[in-house]
Amino acid sequence: MVSLGCPKNLVDSENLLGLLHRDGHEITLNEEDADIIIVNTCSFIKDAEKESVRAILSLTGRGKKVVVAGCLPQKYREELKEAMPEVFAFAGTGDLSKIRDIIRGGSTFEVENSPRHRHIEDIKRFHISMGSGAYIKIGEGCDYACSFCVIPSLRGNYTSRAMESIVREAKELGKEGVNEIILIAQDTAGYGKDIYSKPSLAALLEKLNDIDEISWIRVMYFYPSPVNDGLLDTIARLEKVVKYVDIPLQHSHPDILRLMNRPGIDNGGLIEKIRDKIPGVSVRTVFITGFPGETEEHFEHLYNFIEKHRFDKLGIFEYSTEESTPSGKLKPRASAGVKRRRRRMLMQLQQGISRQINESLIGKTIPSIIETVSEKQVIARTYRDAPEVDGLVYINTDKTGAGPEPGEIVNVEITGAAEYDLEGFIAGD
Ligand code: SF4
Repeated sequence: MVSLGCPKNLVDSENLLGLLHRDGHEITLNEEDADIIIVNTCSFIKDAEKESVRAILSLTGRGKKVVVAGCLPQKYREELKEAMPEVFAFAGTGDLSKIRDIIRGGSTFEVENSPRHRHIEDIKRFHISMGSGAYIKIGEGCDYACSFCVIPSLRGNYTSRAMESIVREAKELGKEGVNEIILIAQDTAGYGKDIYSKPSLAALLEKLNDIDEISWIRVMYFYPSPVNDGLLDTIARLEKVVKYVDIPLQHSHPDILRLMNRPGIDNGGLIEKIRDKIPGVSVRTVFITGFPGETEEHFEHLYNFIEKHRFDKLGIFEYSTEESTPSGKLKPRASAGVKRRRRRMLMQLQQGISRQINESLIGKTIPSIIETVSEKQVIARTYRDAPEVDGLVYINTDKTGAGPEPGEIVNVEITGAAEYDLEGFIAGD
């Protein structure tokens, strides 16, 4: 299995491997040993597509029997089949479990026109990458229609996973020693709206909070409009839910938000409310620079918005034109140089903000989860940081008492700070 792209894809890959393992197949992560290699692809932006294509060609070039799965065949369908005759088989985003039939000698092209996600139930996920936290997918697909995004066409409508199924998986992971679970979906705030007729993330968090074996629950990817007082109060109240809110806003200027087909709500007011209701919260967001029609004035609005709201964590992406999306047809388009310059300016602004925020943590004791332990170094991550996208805390081992284990949650006293990462030592009880 070569799993590319986001954690949501990784969860799909691991579920599929669980299914194949149950069927009696031997799973290996060594390409040389494998009879069949599944590449679960990403097609979110052009760079991700290029990475997927490179991975496929490198394997087929070495004579491997490759099944190309996920977003790339879903987007290009027969076109991809014709372009890559050396590929053994294709499976779309809603057809992953059909790879079992493909392997048994069935059809080698399983890509439904309209993908419909079905969560693979009662299967033990086969973990191929286990960090300090484990992702749990609570929904798939998306009912929104942001004008720059291909996801709804690749993943179908929003489909929530049943609460009991999520709770069961969280318990199992807890029994396996996982301390932190990370809930993901294209939008987590709207969880349950399709199957429980109203957003039900707060109810899910209540249930997960009762699981003894789990210590931390983190939620990623809130679409802004379903985030209401009840949800924020629940996050603030439940002791196991880490005080971390990830809310991709994409832009600040109402003109650009309208062109993006994003909600015209008071995003600044929402950020203030989140901080007000959840003491100690770490707020993460992402913005796009160089969206079609973004003028210097729009950009300045975004710059000032970031300066004012001082996000704890921030990702900035240059706009990537996807011809199949509505914004792919919008004009005028910003040049690559403009997109890059604007991104660089925002990153520089954020570096200063992030350094100041991190410096303000010096002397404080922050609950942190151990990521890796080696003879030379112990690396952890505070509750304020999500895996892969945020910072780390490097622990001074001279002052470390009994060696901590990966996944253990410890109190770290912060002694040093840089733009993204921290330094500290494990505080005594
Ligand atoms: S909320 Fe918008 S950006 Fe996110 S997956 Fe849905 S359409 Fe795409």
